[in-house]
Amino acid sequence: MIKENMQEMKKKVLFMCICKSCPSWIECKEKGGFCFPTIGKSKCIKKENGCICGNCPVTKEMGLKHGYYCTRGSEKEQSS
Ligand code: SF4
Ligand code: SF4
Repeated sequence: MIKENMQEMKKKVLFMCICKSCPSWIECKEKGGFCFPTIGKSKCIKKENGCICGNCPVTKEMGLKHGYYCTRGSEKEQSS
């Protein structure tokens, strides 16, 4: 994937991300989008109190198969 596309995709993911409504969310100026490879894990969320990624449009659109990206790493990271 070329760099420009990654930037565009990242913007799209952040726009659609519903992490802020998640019970595990910790407010600390992060923007979510932890499933995305260039964003990856959260520096603030450490406790898994539920994950709503399954309800996020990004999961459907990008065919994601995991969850808890904030604590376990991006889709790419968890797939390897
Ligand atoms: S799948 Fe999860 S981490 Fe990725 S954008 Fe949606 S809510 Fe955020
Ligand atoms: S990645 Fe999943 S568990 Fe983490 S904040 Fe987003 S919805 Fe919640």
